[in-house]
Amino acid sequence: MNSKFLTDKVALVTGASRGLGKAIAIALAAEGASIAAVARSEEALKETLEAIRSAGGRAEPFPVDVADGAAVETVVEKIASLFGHVDVLVNNAGVTRDGLLMRMTSEAWDTVLNTNLKGAFNFTKPVGRLMVRQRAGRIINISSVIGLIGNAGQANYAASKAGLIGFTKSVAREFASRNITCNVLCPGFIETDMTRDLSDDLRKKLLERVPLQRLGQPDDVAAVVAFLCSPASGYMTGQVLTVDGGMVM
Ligand code: NAP
Repeated sequence: MNSKFLTDKVALVTGASRGLGKAIAIALAAEGASIAAVARSEEALKETLEAIRSAGGRAEPFPVDVADGAAVETVVEKIASLFGHVDVLVNNAGVTRDGLLMRMTSEAWDTVLNTNLKGAFNFTKPVGRLMVRQRAGRIINISSVIGLIGNAGQANYAASKAGLIGFTKSVAREFASRNITCNVLCPGFIETDMTRDLSDDLRKKLLERVPLQRLGQPDDVAAVVAFLCSPASGYMTGQVLTVDGGMVM
C-alpha cells in the first residue's frame, strides 16, 4: 500500500518559483501530489520543476500574474483540462511594497492588495468551482503574523494579510458542506528572498522577539501546509495557524 497521502492528487501552488512556495510545492510533491506550479514566468519556475521531477514527481508550469483575474480563469481551465481535477490550492504568491503611510503611493497599495488578497480571490473562485463539483478539497492561504499584529511601514501588506484571514473564514463557511476545508497560515520571520534585505540591526531586533530563538525556514512552513492537506487535519477548517517560533501568542 502507498502511504503517501497525496498520491493521485493535484496541488496548485501559487508563488512556487522560490521561497515558501517552492518549499511547499516540493513538500506536497514528496507526498505524491502532481504540482501545478504558478509564478509570473516559466523561466522562474525551472528550479522548482527540476527539484520535483528529479525526485520522481510530476510538476508543470503555469505562468500567470495572480492579480489578473481573466488570465487566472484561463490558467485554471488549462490546469483542469491537463490534470482532470484540483485537490489542493495553496494561495501563497505575495509581494511587499513597504513605506510609511504618509508616503505610500496608491500604486504601492494597489500592487500589494491586488497580488496578495485579490490574487487569492482570483484563484479560489474557479478552483472552488471544481472542488465543489468534486465534493472535496483543501484550500490553504498564506497570510502573515503582520496581518495579526500590524507593522509600521507595512499598512498595505498588513491589510492584505488581515484580509486573507477574513476571506479564509468566509470561504471555510461557504464550502464546508461540500467537504472543502479552508485554513490560513501566518508565518513569522522566515528566511527567503522577501526577508533577505533586512538590516542586521533589524534582524537582531526581530530575533529577540522569537522565543524559539531562530529564524524560520521555508520547510517549517511547508510541513504545516502538508499537515493541512493530510487526513490528520480533516476536521479543521477556518483556522488561523501561526508558524512563527512563538513570536505571536
Ligand atoms: P518570495 O521569496 O519573494 O516569493 C514570492 C513568490 O510569489 C514568488 O514565487 C513570486 O514569483 C510569486 N509572485 C509574486 N507576485 C506574483 C504575481 N503577481 N503573480 C504570480 N506570482 C507572484 O516570498 P516568500 O518569502 O517565499 O513569501 C511567500 C508568501 O509568504 C507571501 O505571500 C508572503 O507574504 C508570505 N510570508 C512570508 C514571510 C517571510 O518571512 N518570508 C512571512 C510571512 C508571510 P515570481 O516573482 O517568480 O513571479
